[in-house]
Amino acid sequence: MSCPICDKESDAKYRPFCSRRCADVDLGRWLNGSYAVPSSDPDDADALADAARDGLGQQKRPH
Ligand SMILES: [Zn+2]
Repeated sequence: MSCPICDKESDAKYRPFCSRRCADVDLGRWLNGSYAVPSSDPDDADALADAARDGLGQQKRPH
């Protein structure tokens, strides 16, 4: 089985994803309602991961 986010081999610890990062990206896509939109842009994946964390209310960024 391969990671649905980046198609790397999935890790048993994070399956079906390959890493915590890809699991975050997947969550972000669900939260943003854009799960069906494929993206291979690493920067976009980071943005989605950030959005996922914000969406979970962990807003502890220093200002
Ligand atoms: Zn992955």
